[in-house]
Amino acid sequence: MRGPLDVVVIGGGQAGLSAGYYLRRAGLEFAVLDAQPTPGGAWQHTWDSLRLFSPAEYSSLPGRLMPSQQGETCPDAGHVVSYLTDYEKRYELPVHRPVRVAGVHRDGELLRIESDSGTWRARAVISATGTWSRPFVPAVPGRTKFRGAQLHTVEYRGPADFAGQKVIVVGGGNSGAQIAADLAYDTEATWVTLREPRYLADDVDGRVLFDAATARRRALDEGRTDTRGVASLGDIVAVPPVRSARDAGLLKAQPMFDRITATGVAWADGMTAEADVIIWCTGFRPALSHLAPLGLRGPRGHVPTAGTQALGEPRLHLLGYGDWTGPASATLIGVGRPARDAARQIADLLG
Ligand SMILES: Cc1cc2nc3c(=O)[nH]c(=O)nc-3n(C[C@H](O)[C@H](O)[C@H](O)COP(=O)(O)OP(=O)(O)OC[C@H]3O[C@@H](n4cnc5c(N)ncnc54)[C@H](O)[C@@H]3O)c2cc1C
Repeated sequence: MRGPLDVVVIGGGQAGLSAGYYLRRAGLEFAVLDAQPTPGGAWQHTWDSLRLFSPAEYSSLPGRLMPSQQGETCPDAGHVVSYLTDYEKRYELPVHRPVRVAGVHRDGELLRIESDSGTWRARAVISATGTWSRPFVPAVPGRTKFRGAQLHTVEYRGPADFAGQKVIVVGGGNSGAQIAADLAYDTEATWVTLREPRYLADDVDGRVLFDAATARRRALDEGRTDTRGVASLGDIVAVPPVRSARDAGLLKAQPMFDRITATGVAWADGMTAEADVIIWCTGFRPALSHLAPLGLRGPRGHVPTAGTQALGEPRLHLLGYGDWTGPASATLIGVGRPARDAARQIADLLG
């Protein structure tokens, strides 16, 4: 049994590290427990060609600017992993890994954190476990009948794995567009989207997205009309590889199919497409199963919060995940502000 500490942070990706930065500044005693053996959170697992949708200086965590990557306007995922590795060293953040938390329990005045490396106790918990470990695939008729391979964004590495194959890429967001662009040159790829792809203007970067998300949060908090935030600008950031494939006419999207057959997909009007592989770029859900013992789950699998603080358990904060825990809080540039607010509120609560 370890502790009691002031705070245990669960998850050592960008959200957990930002929390650590502000907890240290608040003078609180804390530990960060991360399930991965090495630093970098989800960025360690993305595909080779992935590029950030912002230049380095607009992709920085609190306290330290991300250095630019030589030869790249928008850095790749490896650059983010190096930055996060350096960040936790520079601020001497007490990250313990690999430690997977199985459950958070109420234990009188404290919260008890059960993990695969023992029990911790803390006066408050920040959950920052991201979404990468909970890929979402929609229920489409016939999905289990398909004889080819099906994979999710999380398993995609690069076009070399699909040379000469017929691939269906499903999803009209950034992952779908980037993977469709990646596959456009060497495979027979069909890109399928629920609605016509909506590209953001070519000059939009992370700062614009952050501003749009912040304006939306403010409007909702003040009871004004929902501005729809980033969604009002479009669904796809036109990063250079997407722009090149789009401008070369290689990113033509088909509407969503109606069912999956043994050998491909079929539309209601009788059109079909054969496929060896279907890649589902259909998003994620928050990884919150470790919070189940607290009985806080609300609609859509979220834990209801005011800002980052759980409504049903004031000692618990949720950080990252999506706009519901703070404007753009699931981005590098956006997570700093809610991390600061969470640390401040915890410091106040603990007196
Ligand atoms: C394809 C793609 C492109 C993106 N592009 C950009 C971009 O250009 N710019 C940008 O700012 N953002 C981008 N994002 C969004 C983004 O920054 C992330 O999703 C980010 O990784 C979220 O950080 P996080 O710390 O919340 O979660 P993660 O990075 O997922 O970190 C969570 C950590 O918690 C650990 N964990 C999970 N469960 C447990 C548990 N039970 N116990 C202990 N540890 C646990 C995980 O192993 C992981 O290490 C992109 C996302 C995707 C998917």
